[in-house]
Amino acid sequence: MLRAIEILGIRKPVSIRWANESEMATKPKPGSGFRTTGEHEYTARDEHVIQLLPGRSAEATSKTVLHELAHAASAEAFPSRFAWQRAKLNDLQSFEDEADELAGVLAHLRPVT
Ligand SMILES: [Zn+2]
Repeated sequence: MLRAIEILGIRKPVSIRWANESEMATKPKPGSGFRTTGEHEYTARDEHVIQLLPGRSAEATSKTVLHELAHAASAEAFPSRFAWQRAKLNDLQSFEDEADELAGVLAHLRPVT
């Protein structure tokens, strides 16, 4: 985990906790078959909170952690969390694709074992 945070150049504190789907802000769209397995929030306290759905394999959870950490890294590249949020809302798919790509590149780190 720390290795991934270091490689991604994340400087703000990161906390990670388990959460069920109803605790996550992003509600799955009904009928879409899409399941929220993790969530990243850049808080007003200038820290990253990552929530993970429990009960999945270490491999699947690792992938989600890396994806959410990639969001954290991308957020820090913006001058403020608001600037990042605006940019993300305008181009959600690109931000998701970028996070997936980074998670794929870093997959060998396997932060969850
Ligand atoms: Zn994402």
